Amino acid sequence: MPPTLSLVVPMFNESENVSVFYDRVRSVLDALDEPWEIVCVNDGSRDDTLHHLLALHARDARIVVLDLTRNFGKEAALTAGLDHASGQAIIPMDADLQDPPELIPQLVGRWREGYDVVLAVRATRTSDSWMKRNTAGMFYRLINRMSETPIPENAGDFRLMSREVVDALKQLPERRRFMKGLFAWVGFRTSEIHYERPLRHAGQTKFNYWRLWNFAIEGITSFSSAPLRLSSYLGVMVSLLSFLYAIKIVVDTLLFGNPVRGYPSLMVAILFFSGVQLIAIGVIGEYLGRLYEESKHRPVYLLRKRYLPPREK
Ligand code: UDP
Ligand code: MG
Repeated sequence: MPPTLSLVVPMFNESENVSVFYDRVRSVLDALDEPWEIVCVNDGSRDDTLHHLLALHARDARIVVLDLTRNFGKEAALTAGLDHASGQAIIPMDADLQDPPELIPQLVGRWREGYDVVLAVRATRTSDSWMKRNTAGMFYRLINRMSETPIPENAGDFRLMSREVVDALKQLPERRRFMKGLFAWVGFRTSEIHYERPLRHAGQTKFNYWRLWNFAIEGITSFSSAPLRLSSYLGVMVSLLSFLYAIKIVVDTLLFGNPVRGYPSLMVAILFFSGVQLIAIGVIGEYLGRLYEESKHRPVYLLRKRYLPPREK
């Protein structure tokens, strides 16, 4: 019989967290009195995360382990986990206990009330640095202005999704998977609960500012083509300005003659226009690159091995 509840946990170098995570989650899940499984995805960890996971799997058959061939990134690891989760309700969670397991009963309760998606939204961002809070705020404002799919602010991947939602997600064919956006795109009846996000239990965050910056660009280019349109508006604006400037030059020449001047303005114009053109080409390149990536049709992740419960082998 398939489990009612599947947790999906991507893990990259989380050896210090594995057993604490398991202990805390297990006591919450066992209290629920429903069959469950935890799908742990080892995303090419370079420490002994896999070793710890296999030890758990040997003790408790409800621990399913997917071992990816290398580090594919959190979005791909999550995709792998969702593809293999067999529960009626599925909850992606981080391994560092920043997504408190104690909220699971509330999530399940809302699902039982008939919601397909139950979002865990952070009430405040006090556990983040000033810099992270502000850049995150800016990102959400920007993407929600540009994208036609509103992405709920301060909600991570921690949420409950019904089987129908996950089946819908599996139909989305894109390889570059900005999961937060895809979750929002599929829609369904959604409810929210609020919580305070604790600090990481152990270890370091895997997302430094450079990675977050790239993640933001990934999100924007996945969910909006507004930057392409913006660059054409920029082009129109610059052309209009240059037209006005042309008129000024003609008038100047007619009124005051034409002494050979204008090297500075020439230089400024050339540099300015080349800059604008490079920006526009860069924006086009960003989308072209995505198109290229998608057209290769490579799988999102590769599995080295699956460790399933004995009966399913
Ligand atoms: N993670 C992953 N692959 C990666 C980076 C992160 O599977 O390449 C996992 C990580 O092990 C953790 C979750 O994604 O379970 C969230 O990562 P982290 O806690 O570093 O992110 P933060 O909470 O700082 O945003
Ligand atoms: Mg974390």
